[in-house]
Amino acid sequence: MMLRKNNRLLWTAASMSIVVFASCGTNADPDPSTDTAPETNRVEIPEEMSGVAELPEAEQDAALQQKICPVSDEPIGSMGKPIKVPVEGQDVYVCCEGCVDMVKENPTKYLAKLKQE
Ligand SMILES: [Zn+2]
Repeated sequence: MMLRKNNRLLWTAASMSIVVFASCGTNADPDPSTDTAPETNRVEIPEEMSGVAELPEAEQDAALQQKICPVSDEPIGSMGKPIKVPVEGQDVYVCCEGCVDMVKENPTKYLAKLKQE
């Protein structure tokens, strides 16, 4: 009789730990006790591209990957907040207002230039 009781207890404990494990695995909430970097420091922005920091965080990666303004060859963000120019179904970042019209007037030329990089 003792043995049977113990077995049942063990089984209950085992199934409970499975439930705990499963809910832990599906829980996407980050552990507040873990040491995570602040949101703003997630993307590293080089000093010469500091204007990229003024872009929404979601756009910073794309601007950093593009690296340079196709019109001026200056680093994106070197003259303040980069400007996003949507041309031919994709977004091009330029360093300043003056470059926006250049890209709009000749998108094919500047898109081709970016592809060579
Ligand atoms: Zn420019």
